[in-house]
Amino acid sequence: MVQQEEIYDLIGVGVGPFNLSLAALLDEIDEVNTLFFEQKEQFDWHPGMLIEGTKLQVPFLADLVTMADPTNKHSFLNYISKNDRMYQFYFLQRLDIPRREYNDYCQWVSKQLSSCQFGHRVSNIRHVKEEETYFEVTVENVKTNETNVYKTKHMVMGTGSVPVMPKSFQNLSDEDVFHTADYVPKQDRCRNAKSVTVVGSGQSAAEAFRELLKEQRECGFRLDWITRSASFESMEESKLSLEHFSPDYVKYFYQLPQKDKDEIFANQGLYYKGISNHTIEDIYNLLYEYSVGNDQLNVGLQVLSEVRGIEPKSDGTGYVLDCFHWQKKESYQHESEVVITATGYKPYVPEFIHYLSEFLEWDEEGRYKVEADYRLKKTENVENEIYVHSGISHTHGVGSTNLGLAVHRNKVIINHLLGREVYKLPEKSIFQSFDIE
Ligand SMILES: Cc1cc2nc3c(=O)[nH]c(=O)nc-3n(C[C@H](O)[C@H](O)[C@H](O)COP(=O)(O)OP(=O)(O)OC[C@H]3O[C@@H](n4cnc5c(N)ncnc54)[C@H](O)[C@@H]3O)c2cc1C
Repeated sequence: MVQQEEIYDLIGVGVGPFNLSLAALLDEIDEVNTLFFEQKEQFDWHPGMLIEGTKLQVPFLADLVTMADPTNKHSFLNYISKNDRMYQFYFLQRLDIPRREYNDYCQWVSKQLSSCQFGHRVSNIRHVKEEETYFEVTVENVKTNETNVYKTKHMVMGTGSVPVMPKSFQNLSDEDVFHTADYVPKQDRCRNAKSVTVVGSGQSAAEAFRELLKEQRECGFRLDWITRSASFESMEESKLSLEHFSPDYVKYFYQLPQKDKDEIFANQGLYYKGISNHTIEDIYNLLYEYSVGNDQLNVGLQVLSEVRGIEPKSDGTGYVLDCFHWQKKESYQHESEVVITATGYKPYVPEFIHYLSEFLEWDEEGRYKVEADYRLKKTENVENEIYVHSGISHTHGVGSTNLGLAVHRNKVIINHLLGREVYKLPEKSIFQSFDIE
């Protein structure tokens, strides 16, 4: 174990888009000394869902820096320019860039930032009170298992989310039964199957289903899509609804009582859980095309059906899904060789945060409490802060995981970290009012 003596100003855990944006913005500011650790070997944004043809669900303006400073060299337009693709992008005439391009852009930025260290997992944090107070951060090199211990005044957690796999789907062959998060590397398995079933009806489910639908006739597999929902609901994407993903809504939501926040958030699923209209349209167009000439569609779309369990077939040729039609209150069985669960993600809060349980304030549900400016609330009056991007939907609302708010959050964090207004924050950024004005 190697102890580093230098005290950094800020150490980040995880390099997804949120911390990468912070690292990119801080790259322009000389007065702070920062490090960001990422366990993956390189920046890679949800690689299992980088399906060709999928698009970023926010305009490219929500890149890593533009909303704070359009002249920043880490902007998406600078990436386009430096890669000599300006005319192609100009003639493309689109705000919604391919998801694979967003990943490539982020990789391009990450390679220019010496503060971002890949292949390093943060395994522990300790708050130390000596003459000076600081955090001690244990970091493991993923390849060599070598451990370094760093000192830092402040921390920032950007550990994102992890896929949720229902219990009954766990402990089966992960070649045959897997989450959409693993879809791309399993595409060949699907192509070679006799039948494939997608369970769930969010955006990831729809994107996997659309891709499978494109290949289904040529590969010859039966394709099914099953959801508990009453319909394949579309995401609420009207411009005034999108204003929920604004600094104004975050500010309004933040000051509500926690009980109200929990109730409101529980009812906002359609702002982020439904399917984009363009994806539904693509799927419908394909289904319509395939039905020309009364061709028999070897495809099923089943709503109102909860998948309650799954068992391997005794002859080893696939799985039997135990389904329940909750309106008719009838159970039935469905067979499939491959089953893809599109059962969402949950915030990932590393276990080691709980080792600081005495240092931090927690709510009745066991969630950490968060200040308006994204610092975890502390029980002690010390000048060491832990800023958070992840696991803050309960305090900051529906926009917490949205890329369009990441740069705003980083502006707030940077202003606090530097103790001055580096970035001006908007007084009013949308047309409607959520609070009484
Ligand atoms: C498939 C998918 C598509 C999405 N598309 C959009 C979209 O189009 N528009 C939009 O607004 N939002 C989208 N989102 C939501 C959101 O933008 C993303 O989840 C985004 O990746 C969140 O960024 P992040 O930095 O918090 O986390 P992540 O991207 O999840 O990154 C967190 C990183 O932390 C690392 N890490 C965790 N623990 C440690 C540790 N102890 N040490 C070191 N590293 C660690 C992980 O390896 C990971 O790389 C999407 C989400 C998913 C799942």
